[in-house]
Amino acid sequence: MNDKKNGSISGASVETVLTHGGREPSEQFGFVNTPVYRGSTVLFKTLADIEAQQQRYLYGRAGNPTTEGVEAIVTELEGAYRTRLVPSGLAAITIALLSCVKAGDDVLVSDSAYEPGRVFCDGFLARMGVTTRFYDPRIGSGLAALMQPNTRAVLAESPGSLTFEVQDVPALAKAAHDGGARLIVDNSWASPLYHQPLALGADLVVHAGTKMFVGHSDAFAGTISTTEAAWADVERTRAQLGFFTSGDDAFLVARGLRTLAIRMKEHQERALDIAGWLEGQDEVMQVLHPALPAHPDHALWQRDFTGSGSLFSVLLAPAPRASVAAFVDGLELFTMGYSWGGFESLCTPVKLGKNRTAKPWTAEGNLFRLHVGLEGVEDLKADLKAAIDRYAKAR
Ligand SMILES: *Cc1c(COP(=O)(O)O)cnc(C)c1O
Repeated sequence: MNDKKNGSISGASVETVLTHGGREPSEQFGFVNTPVYRGSTVLFKTLADIEAQQQRYLYGRAGNPTTEGVEAIVTELEGAYRTRLVPSGLAAITIALLSCVKAGDDVLVSDSAYEPGRVFCDGFLARMGVTTRFYDPRIGSGLAALMQPNTRAVLAESPGSLTFEVQDVPALAKAAHDGGARLIVDNSWASPLYHQPLALGADLVVHAGTKMFVGHSDAFAGTISTTEAAWADVERTRAQLGFFTSGDDAFLVARGLRTLAIRMKEHQERALDIAGWLEGQDEVMQVLHPALPAHPDHALWQRDFTGSGSLFSVLLAPAPRASVAAFVDGLELFTMGYSWGGFESLCTPVKLGKNRTAKPWTAEGNLFRLHVGLEGVEDLKADLKAAIDRYAKAR
C-alpha cells in the first residue's frame, strides 16, 4: 500500500486507488490534484542531455503528468501491465485493432460490437488489406471453428451496449490464443470495477472513457490497457499514428475517476431498480439487462462480473413509428442523444439493421436503450410510465 511509484498504489482497494492513485502532491507543490499540463516542447539543458534521451519527458506527444495520472489509475484497476490514454473510445478500438494486424491478416468482431468500430473494420481495415468477419456474440468456444491461420485479433464487447449479450471471455481467449490471435475486450459497460477481462485471459482491454470514467458528458477519452506481451505493439502503433490526449481532457478524466466507485454503485442500483420495475409494465416484452435473472446470459454475467452498469435496453410490443415518437418526444427527464455514462438519464431508440450480419436481430417490437442517471428513481419511473401510456395510446 505504501509502494507509491508514479502515483500508483498497489494492493489497495479499488476505492483507495481511485482516490489516491495517479497523483503525487509532493511533486505539485502540495496541491491535491495534478494540474493540467499543456505543452509540446520539453526542454533539455545540455547537448549531453538531448543525446542521452534519459529525461522523464522528451516531447509532449508521448504524455505528461496529467495524462500519466489517468493511465496509472486505469492500469491498477484493470490489473494491466500498462495503459495508454487516447482521444476517444473509438480511437482505443482502432489503435488496439491496428496494433495486431498487417496486410493479409484477418480479424473476428462480435456482431454486438460498437457500430463505428465495425465501420472502421469494413472500411479502413479492408482498404489496408485486412479482412473482417463478424461472429455471434454468444459463440463462446465455437469461435475456434472460425479461426483462420491469418486471424490475428478477436474483438469482443461484453455485454454489447445495445443488445446486452454477455460474451464468454475465457472461452474466446482460449480460442483466440490457440489460433495465434489476441483478444481485445471493450469493457466500457461494467468498468474495471465490475469486470476485469485481462484476468479472464484477454490481451487488451479498451474503454470509452467518455462514458463512465468522465461521467459528466463533457469530454472525450479512451484507454487501452494491455498485458506485457501486447504492450509494445500498442504503444508503437499509437506513437506512429500520432495520437495524444490533451492535459485538459486528461484532467477531466482524472476528476471523473475520483468518484467512479460511488457513481457506479448508484447507477447500478438505479438501473437495476428501473429494469426490474419495467419487466412488470404494460407493453414491455423483454428487458435486456444481464443482471436480471430472466436474461439469457445471467449465469455467465454472475460468473464473470461483480456488478452491472447504468445501461440496458427494453423491448416494447410492436407498434408503429407514431408510438415510438410519442414515447420519446414527451419524455421530461430522460433525454435523447448518443453516448451515456453522464449524471443525466438518456433514452434513445435503437435501430438494428445493417450492423447485425452474423446474427441478425429478428425480435419484433421497438427497442429503446436507457442510461439511468442520478435523478430520483421514482421521478424516472413516472417519466417512463407516462411514456408507455403515450406509446400504447398512439398505436
Ligand atoms: C461510446 C462507445 C465507444 C466509443 O467511445 P467514443 O469516446 O464515443 O469514441 C466505444 N465502445 C462503447 C461500448 C461505447 O459505448
